[in-house]
Amino acid sequence: MSPTKVTIVGSGNWGSAIARIVGQTTKAYSNEFDPTVRMWVFEEMVNGEKLSEIINTRHENVKYLPGKILPENIVAVPDLVQSCDGSEILIFVVPHQFVKGICKQLEGKISPNAHVVSLIKGVSVQENGTGLKLISDEIREYLKCPVDVLMGANLAPEVANDMFCEATIGCQTRSVHGPMLKRLFHTDNFRISVVEDAHTVELCGALKNVVACAAGFTDGLGYGDNTKAAVIRLGLMEITKFVEHYYPGSNLSTFFESCGIADLITTCYGGRNRKVCEAFVKAGKPMAEVEKELLNGQSAQGPPTAAEVFHMLEATNLISSFPLFVAVHRICQGEMPPSGMIDCLRDHPEHQ
Ligand code: NAD
Ligand code: 13P
Repeated sequence: MSPTKVTIVGSGNWGSAIARIVGQTTKAYSNEFDPTVRMWVFEEMVNGEKLSEIINTRHENVKYLPGKILPENIVAVPDLVQSCDGSEILIFVVPHQFVKGICKQLEGKISPNAHVVSLIKGVSVQENGTGLKLISDEIREYLKCPVDVLMGANLAPEVANDMFCEATIGCQTRSVHGPMLKRLFHTDNFRISVVEDAHTVELCGALKNVVACAAGFTDGLGYGDNTKAAVIRLGLMEITKFVEHYYPGSNLSTFFESCGIADLITTCYGGRNRKVCEAFVKAGKPMAEVEKELLNGQSAQGPPTAAEVFHMLEATNLISSFPLFVAVHRICQGEMPPSGMIDCLRDHPEHQ
């Protein structure tokens, strides 16, 4: 059997950091994986040069992961369909607002044996505009292939610096695909656990971005670590309640994996969502403007996720049960002052 070809669909901050890992593991298991890994690059010009050409000549994503060398077996490909042609493992790692467009372009054009691993933290909305849809379900519907997820406490700049961390793979067919996926991602400094409770893994990854916005708001207001601990605790209560209500049957233990409490903590201290929301409070500028100024093309997924979650809560009459999620959305929209975050924590139903 010829070795499995792997494509990374995305080349942002996390996409580039994961390329450093997958470049290493595919070489280590070259009997199993083709060590030439294609990475789809959404083409753009950087100082007059094409980003894909910079990556292929200098082996550095100078825009999204500057200062870190990518392995030479990572090959940037600007054509999406070409980048995935013949690949059996497609690692999806793009900001969630771009998933649908990417899937539409790939529909009917991927290998019949393709298998997606989504590293995307976000949610989508149902076509009728009311309910939520998991990103993994959206990909599955378009591409008609198995989709597993990888989430965890994985700030990309730290992973790219080879600092120790853990991650969780959610794989409904753990006994069949788990060992192969583990070989693809597991390294000395990136330790993988595989669980079957994939929808919980994915929802933890998406919802923690909303809680991180709340942490950014309290930081911006000048509150301290005790307040942030309350945000993390109440945020975790809302995450577990949300998963249990809309996707019943989760395992409590999944919330204690890297994808759960660990990611919540790291994002509330060191993530981009926290940073952007702190600056939003301090600068008093619209969220989109702050994001543009601070992130140089990277994307904070918390504000759009809060909006998507809010619409789901509104459609199902559950707004009063998730005050932290709702306050984040209203503050991002300018419908509530940032100080409303503290009122929300103070009056949270957990204290009644
Ligand atoms: P990013 O925030 O760096 O986003 C920028 C990427 O979006 C670039 O590759 C850019 O080319 C691409 N892009 C811009 N416009 C586009 C378009 N119209 N169509 C398609 N792509 C376009 O991306 P990231 O950090 O790699 O994040 C991807 C996913 O991984 C997100 O869901 C994020 O939550 C998750 N994640 C990120 C981190 C992290 O620390 N960065 C860690 C874990 C998970
Ligand atoms: P931010 O997008 O807030 O930087 O979070 C990154 C992340 O998901 C770390 O696990």
